[in-house]
Amino acid sequence: MSPEQLEEFRQILRDEKKRLLRKAAHTIKNEIELSKDDMADEADLASALTDQNLSLRLRGRERYLMEKIDLAIERIDEGEFGECVVCGDDIAVKRLRARPVTTMCIACKEEQERRERLYSD
Ligand SMILES: [Zn+2]
Repeated sequence: MSPEQLEEFRQILRDEKKRLLRKAAHTIKNEIELSKDDMADEADLASALTDQNLSLRLRGRERYLMEKIDLAIERIDEGEFGECVVCGDDIAVKRLRARPVTTMCIACKEEQERRERLYSD
């Protein structure tokens, strides 16, 4: 993958991360608004709104996605992005565009899903 493409994916992943963090920030602000009998403490709000705290506020699917995004950004830094973690082949760029956090090529993913179906019943 070209450096330009890697940068493009890094940007996509960062934007997605920002979107998740904004959503968490919105939730926290609402909670503070709702729970303030006394004045909302600006300092408390500011300290609640760090990236790390926001990540901790994410739940379920969003938290899972955030972990995948962090991992994908790490893999860009390590030069492993776009490589299938199972077979080591390149993952199709088209597939990465549709799902930038993926770590498996389509063949390995299908194989994994086939096995999951096999053992789920
Ligand atoms: Zn593979």
